[in-house]
Amino acid sequence: MLLAGDAAHVHPPTGGQGMNTGIQDAYNLGWKLAAALDGDDGPLSTYEPERRTVAARVLGISSELLGKLVDAMERGEDTRQLDISYRDPADTRPVAPGDRAPDAPLKNSDGRALRLFDLFRGPHATLLCFGATGESPALPGTRSYSVVEPGATAPGHAVIDIEGHAHAAYGVVAGTRILIRPDGYIGQIG
Ligand SMILES: Cc1cc2nc3c(=O)[nH]c(=O)nc-3n(C[C@H](O)[C@H](O)[C@H](O)COP(=O)(O)OP(=O)(O)OC[C@H]3O[C@@H](n4cnc5c(N)ncnc54)[C@H](O)[C@@H]3O)c2cc1C
Repeated sequence: MLLAGDAAHVHPPTGGQGMNTGIQDAYNLGWKLAAALDGDDGPLSTYEPERRTVAARVLGISSELLGKLVDAMERGEDTRQLDISYRDPADTRPVAPGDRAPDAPLKNSDGRALRLFDLFRGPHATLLCFGATGESPALPGTRSYSVVEPGATAPGHAVIDIEGHAHAAYGVVAGTRILIRPDGYIGQIG
């Protein structure tokens, strides 16, 4: 059974977190259900461990206490819910799979300003190919972009990292590829 929102975790109104947490449950779950319908059950198995941990931390309790009546007036460090990460706790890299994908200002090849978050918006996954990675692979359900320095060219869809903010935010060198999940979290770094 897959539970989301107040069915999975009830918050006191004073905490002001129930709706925020429930919406993120649904956003986390939606693309995983879509993947399962396409024959890949892998992402769906991560739904409960990822979101159960977050719900418990927002309430400031251990995840074993979720569903029990507890004094949950304390608000955990994830109250703002902007720095939630599903990363492996043993992974100490500054940016790692499971982290919320950072934003950065860019320009497209026509010189129009846009942001990484503009590329992520929608139900697709996004593959960022930093620098000279060659032809971006065509992956089903994924939009691929080369992220290049000003003056550089790349095959396919290229966006220009005008001031190096994208490279800096991800801490990457040319040749790195990063897959962003449909819910805006980093899926893989390669
Ligand atoms: C006073 C108050 C203030 C709040 N303030 C905030 C806030 O500032 N920020 C915040 O993030 N959250 C806040 N919340 C919490 C937030 O409102 C809830 O966490 C959120 O609405 C839960 O959404 P949900 O979809 O999981 O459940 P619900 O909104 O309860 O939706 C469940 C729906 O299922 C329907 N339903 C139930 N049984 C059946 C059935 N058998 N068949 C068909 N339909 C059924 C119900 O009628 C309901 O429409 C507040 C809550 C309260 C009470």
